[in-house]
Amino acid sequence: MSTKRIHNFNAGPAALPLPVLEEIQASFLNFNGSGMSITEVSHRSKWFDDVINDAVVRIRRLLNMDETYHVLFLQGGASLQFAMIPMNLLRDGESADYVNTGTWATKAIQEAQLLGKSVRVAASSEDRNFCYIPDHIHFDSNAVYAHITSNNTIKGTQWPIYPDTHSVPLTADMSSDFMSRPFDVKPFGLIYAGAQKNIGPAGVCVVIIRDDMLKRASGNIPTMLKYTTHASKNSMYNTPPCFGVYTIQLVMKWLEESIGGLKAMDAINCKKASCLYSVIDASSFYKGTADKNSRSLMNVTFRLPSEELEKKFVQEALMENMGGLKGHRSVGGCRASIYNATTLESVQTLADFMKTFERKNG
Ligand SMILES: *Cc1c(COP(=O)(O)O)cnc(C)c1O
Repeated sequence: MSTKRIHNFNAGPAALPLPVLEEIQASFLNFNGSGMSITEVSHRSKWFDDVINDAVVRIRRLLNMDETYHVLFLQGGASLQFAMIPMNLLRDGESADYVNTGTWATKAIQEAQLLGKSVRVAASSEDRNFCYIPDHIHFDSNAVYAHITSNNTIKGTQWPIYPDTHSVPLTADMSSDFMSRPFDVKPFGLIYAGAQKNIGPAGVCVVIIRDDMLKRASGNIPTMLKYTTHASKNSMYNTPPCFGVYTIQLVMKWLEESIGGLKAMDAINCKKASCLYSVIDASSFYKGTADKNSRSLMNVTFRLPSEELEKKFVQEALMENMGGLKGHRSVGGCRASIYNATTLESVQTLADFMKTFERKNG
């Protein structure tokens, strides 16, 4: 069978580290001597217990978190968290702040409103089509939490540093940059990330919730939508997404043992991003869509002089073995998603292609 793989710039589901895929393949028919694949073992078995516990330990260690933070593996994607967060954390008469920095942030706000919860948009970058991250935001000191989207996958922006919310717990959708760089977890009361961008396959969402936030969760919520249900059962109240948890475990192991942790990962990611942005900045043919001080290290969004050229760019890139470069259908243009697993070599190949394409068509 051909093992030819492409340079994968997909936005999500996205590239996974090759050593992780190879380990999955090698142990697929007989996981850890069980005589079964990981998709066949019981989630109540010692085999799976070891997997989920190791995943939790590694996530805690990578982010320097103590046991006041619970690590959960839930289903329903990041999109279900848009509802679960206000459902669990906001009681009558209480309010939360949201910063609207793009498509996903907008959806998070809409879901909270749909539940009849009181939300305040503390800041928004909608005035310029979400091409920047707002600065100098005034947060309501009475807010139960302040919600941000750490990386805006579609618009190509990312918080360079997280806002100071004083005593208000930060809550963040980190779906598209979770585990891409180190950060201080202390200001965060809740962090969530759909796995399929940066840490695993689709079907599992990592939720990290601090003990004080968990204790807020009120009673009148369906069992499966209550954080306490999952926290009290180590994410195994019902059958968890076993294969997803297993893949996350291997990705965390790769991050720790092959990459050397989040600081080392960040250094590689910065190098990758600057490789592409330097091509864009040196050119009048490519135009970055995000403001320079807000641009994402994960999703590089850019336009070409015409839609015809953008189409041609995506097609010719594909012929040269580079996939996933079409921008999100809601914004058009081009986007190179360069998550942890996309190698510097793949990014350099794309940068060279971009320069050649400009020379031929500019
Ligand atoms: C992809 C994405 C989502 C949606 O995730 P699902 O797991 O498909 O629900 C939410 N937020 C951000 C920032 C994303 O990139």
